[in-house]
Amino acid sequence: MARSITVLGATGSVGEQTLDLVGREPDRWRVHAVTGATGIARLAELAVAHDAEVAITALPECVEALADALAGTAVRAAGPEALEHEAAAAEIAVNGIVGAAGLAPSMAAIRAGRTLALANKETLVAAGELVTAEVARHGATLLPVDSEHSALFQALTGEPRDEVERVVITASGGAFRDWPLERLAAATPADANEHPNWDMGRRITIDSASMFNKALEVVEARELFDLRPGQIEVVVHPESIVHALVGFRDGALMAHLGPHDMRHAIGYALNWPGRRPLPVERLDLSALGSLSFRAPDEERWPALRLAREVMEARGHAGAAFNAAKEVALDAFIEGRIGFQDMAGVVEETLTRLSGRGDITSPVRSLEGALSADQLARDEAARIAAAIGD
Ligand code: NAD
Ligand code: MG
Repeated sequence: MARSITVLGATGSVGEQTLDLVGREPDRWRVHAVTGATGIARLAELAVAHDAEVAITALPECVEALADALAGTAVRAAGPEALEHEAAAAEIAVNGIVGAAGLAPSMAAIRAGRTLALANKETLVAAGELVTAEVARHGATLLPVDSEHSALFQALTGEPRDEVERVVITASGGAFRDWPLERLAAATPADANEHPNWDMGRRITIDSASMFNKALEVVEARELFDLRPGQIEVVVHPESIVHALVGFRDGALMAHLGPHDMRHAIGYALNWPGRRPLPVERLDLSALGSLSFRAPDEERWPALRLAREVMEARGHAGAAFNAAKEVALDAFIEGRIGFQDMAGVVEETLTRLSGRGDITSPVRSLEGALSADQLARDEAARIAAAIGD
């Protein structure tokens, strides 16, 4: 029997790669819904090509264009009000939405007891405690799609969790890994959008250059695997061949290696708990020759220090951290603040909100996480505007 699937963020990098895999095995999959924001022509094209029941745009102003694009086809067009319902309607939802906008659809799939293949790291950063509690309460299945977390998940399979001593997440270092520090102040969004290894969406690529992406992943790992902050390490690994490692109490380190192809992590989640052949390159280790590792420099990447503070604070700090980061990233992309100002905006937002006691309470509801998100967005916007003046 074909399994029904909803692809959230279908027009993005993760979404397109998910549909690429699904389209290779049409007998195994029935695409229920595909969603996007802008990029309506592509969304309609994907919906028709994969014979989806419904296509959804998250933007009210794009609904009419989507309906027009799908006129005369068998696909129904819908707007944002359908997003949560359809996220919960298929057996498996793959969440490839970028940003905190992914949180509510994730929660809808979880509350319906579905399998959620999660690329949207913001879901766990903004509401990790709540998300994992709801997964248990509703008997849902949460499968990581972020490549480092998929690697950890695979290395942990069959291992008792209390025997894990530490996990190590690798970071490529992004576009500015080897830039002299004094040049960073003048780095432009175009400079930051060049990733040495991976082809991803623009926001995550720039977040890789600032290491905010790695910072989010550290917090994501803490929530997903119930680790203490001190158990999570980051190492710079320019080749991005080792994705993550698990260290056990007997000193063993289990590493996960693979090519730079998200279809491995996506495919692992789609086929879990089994494995199936995937169209990814097979590594030739002797051709690679050597792999290198080095400690991250926190002067270059203050986001990593902030991630530790966020993990220690927990509560709504994750939601505030991510929201402030999204605002700072927008300000950088729009040329209103510099590359290195992003960390300053995020840090100052966290300082102001924790000074007011706004973010210290545990996350008990989706509404609570979303209101911390909004509070941090407003504060970060004020801070970024003051820098831009
Ligand atoms: P992308 O920018 O390529 O695609 C994002 C998708 O989300 C698009 O379909 C877009 O239309 C949709 N979207 C944008 N704003 C939205 C909104 N407000 N509401 C609903 N939908 C909206 O992003 P991506 O690179 O595919 O990344 C998606 C998520 O996966 C991110 O959380 C990212 O951190 C994570 N991730 C991506 C990769 C990768 O290789 N691209 C790897 C690991 C993790
Ligand atoms: Mg990753």
